Amino acid sequence: MLYFKASAHRSIMTTISANLQAVLARIDAAARQYGRDPRDVALLAVSKTWPADCVRDAAAAGQQAFGENYVQEGLEKIAGLRMCGLEWHFIGPLQSNKTRPVAENFDWVHSIDRLKIAERLSEQRPESLPPLSVCLQVNVSGEATKSGASPAEAPALASAIARLPRLRLRGLMAIPEPVETLSAQRLPFRRLRELYEQLQADGLAMDTLSMGMSHDLEAAIAEGATLVRVGTAIFGERNYA
Ligand SMILES: *Cc1c(COP(=O)(O)O)cnc(C)c1O
Repeated sequence: MLYFKASAHRSIMTTISANLQAVLARIDAAARQYGRDPRDVALLAVSKTWPADCVRDAAAAGQQAFGENYVQEGLEKIAGLRMCGLEWHFIGPLQSNKTRPVAENFDWVHSIDRLKIAERLSEQRPESLPPLSVCLQVNVSGEATKSGASPAEAPALASAIARLPRLRLRGLMAIPEPVETLSAQRLPFRRLRELYEQLQADGLAMDTLSMGMSHDLEAAIAEGATLVRVGTAIFGERNYA
């Protein structure tokens, strides 16, 4: 019994490590293809639905930053892996009654789409921790998706968030609708990058364009992503059952 468990675990670990190397190679190749420095594109490993052991395996293979979508699940992994010194990013929809544990335990939040959430996170961020790094989520796919601020409201919202004392506005995030071709994938990412550049020109200091996932990270890197959020290509297909 022990033998089978151990060997099964060893093969999962090998798979995660190999997948991670393959994703890093994709990032590297895309960055070079589009004339960018691969070191300017960070990898966030999205570990939602995967147990802490999988995170531990990815960490052993060198991955430092992990993304979670569900508050309770994320908190359990953060607590269980406290000694690993990992960086935790909250990337899922956030309700206002769940902001406190996020402010107290995560390093980043990518999914801020309204001021009320940002204000609560700022109020609840403990003084003993550095300011919480945040991204404003923008809906660049139009009516197809519902989450994220509209591009029209983004400038005022970003300025208001940037003024909150216990937050540090790092940039913008988007989750475009899945589409097939590279050129179609690039369009919403280009919209997000243009908005990002406009806000920078207006005087907001930001360093993060959080865009691109397993199926479209090349298109995101082509359009200037500085952080790609990758789950499936590292850990495998998720089972939500
Ligand atoms: C699940 C998720 C990802 C990762 O998606 P994959 O297709 O598994 O790479 C990235 N960003 C967000 C916000 C997610 O919810």
